[in-house]
Amino acid sequence: EPGITRYAYDVVVIGAGGAGLRAAIAAREQGKRTAVISKSLFGKAHTVMAEGGAAAALGNANPEDEWRVHFRDTVRGGKFLNDPRMAELHAREAPERILELEYWGALFDRTAEGRISQRNFGGHEYPRLAHVGDRTGLEMIRTLQQRVVALQQEDAAELGDPEARIRVFAETAITRLVTEDDGPGAGATAVDAAGSAGRGAGGATAVDPGPGGAGGAGPAGNARTPGRVVGAFGYRRVDGGFVLFEAPSVVLATGGIGKAFRTTSNSWEYTGDGHALALRAGASLINMEFVQFHPTGMVWPPSVKGILVTESVRGDGGVLRNSEGERFMFGYVPDVFRSQYAESEEEADGWYDDPGEHRRPPELLPRDEVARAINTEVKEGRGSPHGGVFLDVSTRLPAEEIVKRLPSMHHQFKELADVDITAEPMEVGPTCHYVMGGVRVDADTAASDVPGLFAAGEVAGGMHGSNRLGGNSLSDLLVFGRRAGLGAAAYVDGLGDRAAPAGLLDRVAEEASSYALHFLRAEGGENPYTVHADLQETMNDLVGIIRKGPEMERALERLDELAERSRALSAPGDRVYNPGWHLALALPNMVLVSRAVAAAALERTESRGGHTREDFPGMSAEWRRVNLAVRADRSDRVSLSRLALADIPAGLLALFERDELAKYLSEEELPASGAADD
Ligand code: FAD
Repeated sequence: EPGITRYAYDVVVIGAGGAGLRAAIAAREQGKRTAVISKSLFGKAHTVMAEGGAAAALGNANPEDEWRVHFRDTVRGGKFLNDPRMAELHAREAPERILELEYWGALFDRTAEGRISQRNFGGHEYPRLAHVGDRTGLEMIRTLQQRVVALQQEDAAELGDPEARIRVFAETAITRLVTEDDGPGAGATAVDAAGSAGRGAGGATAVDPGPGGAGGAGPAGNARTPGRVVGAFGYRRVDGGFVLFEAPSVVLATGGIGKAFRTTSNSWEYTGDGHALALRAGASLINMEFVQFHPTGMVWPPSVKGILVTESVRGDGGVLRNSEGERFMFGYVPDVFRSQYAESEEEADGWYDDPGEHRRPPELLPRDEVARAINTEVKEGRGSPHGGVFLDVSTRLPAEEIVKRLPSMHHQFKELADVDITAEPMEVGPTCHYVMGGVRVDADTAASDVPGLFAAGEVAGGMHGSNRLGGNSLSDLLVFGRRAGLGAAAYVDGLGDRAAPAGLLDRVAEEASSYALHFLRAEGGENPYTVHADLQETMNDLVGIIRKGPEMERALERLDELAERSRALSAPGDRVYNPGWHLALALPNMVLVSRAVAAAALERTESRGGHTREDFPGMSAEWRRVNLAVRADRSDRVSLSRLALADIPAGLLALFERDELAKYLSEEELPASGAADD
């Protein structure tokens, strides 16, 4: 029986996708002893799957582009709910981060002049996505891994040990963070955790405006003051052995929550672990009601339903049609975007070659708009044979051009659906893709409300507001991954006594390991896969793309039951590569984040971005100023509080026309007449 292996590091980074690797590199470059932990194989993270590209206002394809335009597009796409400081830092720093990646060896596609080529994507005013065909994420991860290896080689030369200052722990899953206030049985993962975990969301929404809602507002709502981080506990998938990391700082970079939904582009790792770890450590999550349904996932055959069809297909000329052959998106341009989008097919088609004289095709509206439009077409009976709509690039580009620009899509459809996209249209429909919500962090340092706990990438919240623009995630990972690594390193430098209270780590490790092992021994419990399927159905059907109050209330009740059921699972077998056991350990995380999503979605009585309420279809200027913050108690019950969103600084507000601002902001927030147009 493998026991508990102990390690000690300055910074432990959980997740080896773009955000985690960039954070680890930054921490190591500050001289910190850094561990990078990944539950999948090293190199296999969602970042690898990213197809379209990384958004950065390099201005290569259109010299008019600059960070302010990128900022404006990002805030428009997020429907003015983005943390303004994060959106600013992201737009300002993305170009540097892309160039740095190139310096480290990334080979982006080129313009004729040999500069990094940039492609069009929804919501971006100019071609902005640096890319490598439709395999951009792979190149990004390859480059970051290469950088890690280069640093290890430096350490080998200088210190005689390549792992002296940065070490990768692959196929290792963290199940528990240890904080200083971790009393006996404090973790929500205790087997005998208090009975029915009611939701407590309904009334617990005290308004806590905080100092402008900006970073440093302190813990949201809820009385518990979180203790600082002292370590992390987990298991190795390979042999089921336990690991305990003693560390004064932890960076969460675990990605998203998509596996809580039935139809999703996300792979098995996306069980919301980081979101749940943060909640249980006492941190708050914000914006959890905003879940992005990508408009174009595969719909057929059933075995591949949900797999992503990159937005690049539309960026490169692909159009959406319904069963009547109509390019239906022209009928779905909302007022807030009316002036920026073409009104005829002719105008839209002209845009690809001459964007100066034409407005953009409506297929390139932000994702939430396109997903809702497809949903409506299908619901009203104009869908494709398998319940999607048609996405056609075959009549828009020569075959060889399609294969060159979209090699993965060509391959994916041929292999998985026996469809040749150079000759026939694809069938596509919405798929759960990305969570805008995540750990509430300080924009500059990525620090959460818990001392020593940092978060970056998809697990962090705020940057994308209510809806993320395509391409803005890869750049987010680089910008805030780096900042999180620097933030964690600076935090460690500033710590006096960093030792954990005597005996705490061992006690928590003992408790967490016996919790984990009990699933292997438990008899008569439910199969984790059954409970997971029920959870996915609940979230898909009751908290999906179009939401209604009573359905979400039902979802919260079911989630109470699912929380109970996920504590009474059996995962028989041994500790070696036992996927049922791994799922049993991840299920409570998915249930907890689902509670956060459902509770926040029920509370927010408006529609905005990735949150559409059939019963509250309008956008409200009052709600625009509010971030819903979720916290959890020791038994995984969630509660909500309202935090005021920071104001957009006047200089940046001036980037928008007053008319546009009036669609989002309340009268009192609007700049004095004329001032915004200066
Ligand atoms: P990831 O890259 O997913 O990494 C998460 C890491 O955390 C993994 O290493 C995982 O093993 C690890 N992990 C998770 N839980 C644990 C745990 N408990 N213990 C230890 N390790 C753990 N965005 C764009 O900007 N442009 C695109 O073109 C684009 N295309 C996409 C295509 C697809 C198919 C998908 C699914 C997403 C796409 N996105 C795109 C979104 C983007 O890829 C992701 O948001 C981004 O890669 C997330 O990066 P991350 O570093 O936060 O997490």
